[in-house]
Amino acid sequence: MLCADIPYEIDLEAAREAIVKAGAVRVVVQLPDGLKKYGVSIVNCLKSLTPGSLEVYLHADPVYGSCDIQYGQLASSVKPQLIIHVGHSPYPVELADPGLESPVNIVYVPALSKLDIPEGSVESSIEVLRGYGVRRVGVVTTAQHTHRVKALAEALREGGLEPVIPRGFPPYFLDGQVLGCDYRLAKHVKAEGFIYFGGGVFHPLGLYLATFKPIVKIDPYEGKTIDLTGLGERVYRVRLFKVSEAMNADKWALIVGVKTGQYRPWLVERLRREIEARGRNYVLIASENLTLQNIIAVDNEWIQAFTVTSCPRIPTDDLWEYHKPVLTPGETIMALRGELEPYRFPW
Ligand code: SF4
Repeated sequence: MLCADIPYEIDLEAAREAIVKAGAVRVVVQLPDGLKKYGVSIVNCLKSLTPGSLEVYLHADPVYGSCDIQYGQLASSVKPQLIIHVGHSPYPVELADPGLESPVNIVYVPALSKLDIPEGSVESSIEVLRGYGVRRVGVVTTAQHTHRVKALAEALREGGLEPVIPRGFPPYFLDGQVLGCDYRLAKHVKAEGFIYFGGGVFHPLGLYLATFKPIVKIDPYEGKTIDLTGLGERVYRVRLFKVSEAMNADKWALIVGVKTGQYRPWLVERLRREIEARGRNYVLIASENLTLQNIIAVDNEWIQAFTVTSCPRIPTDDLWEYHKPVLTPGETIMALRGELEPYRFPW
């Protein structure tokens, strides 16, 4: 059953079935920020599908990914029988704390964008890729556009390129899907460059840092083709500068994420061992939402560098201008070992 009046295909049948099966009387609906404005329509749609009086909470806080379900807080306050998490696939369990289990059942509901491949974008992207000498091209996207990758690959083939779609790994990844902190599938395809289908620069810049291949974005929101290779190169140079700045840091702040999918004890332990093995010191900092304000609040003259084990995109995208180095886990290992290559991203 689709909610008809929004620009995404959201099939709530799986949610309806889960509600009936669990006998749920209270649920929480979570949406990525871009979909929140359709939240009331989705809630009303869900209510119309479910018999009896269902209490539905729409979660207003940012939900940056399936790493960010916040089930602990919800279980101890609202106490829903079910969390309906729309727009993301489950977070890869090996990146989080494998021992952590949600006390609330979660149902993952895809949200597929109705935007199609913009006219002329395939031709212009082929032209850009040819300029880099790319023939074999990887085709990647986010969860909202995975239903477009086959058609895009076909159009690229007709245009004379050799497209390859990274094979999915259900339930975490569909074919062609990347995450801002996990580009393993894209890295494993033998491609000379990539087409990223989707909006923004968050995912394609991460793709560049993970692969160092030409990246062309086809943006269905703006109807444009954009070459992001140069921007990726600039971001990479900034990252190397930050790593070199941190090489002599003796005193580290090791930030531990407390969001449900961003608590990574295995990673904290690994970094702790790397720091101790070199006779350096650290202070542990727990953080749910790591912002510039929070960093400023805890910073003092003792701390010489920060390492972030929660979301590895906070150092690269949000805090890269901070006057002290704020590094990803992979960059931290580079700095501690005094190496500028290979560039490790993000772990
Ligand atoms: S990039 Fe950050 S917000 Fe996105 S899934 Fe990974 S940890 Fe979560």
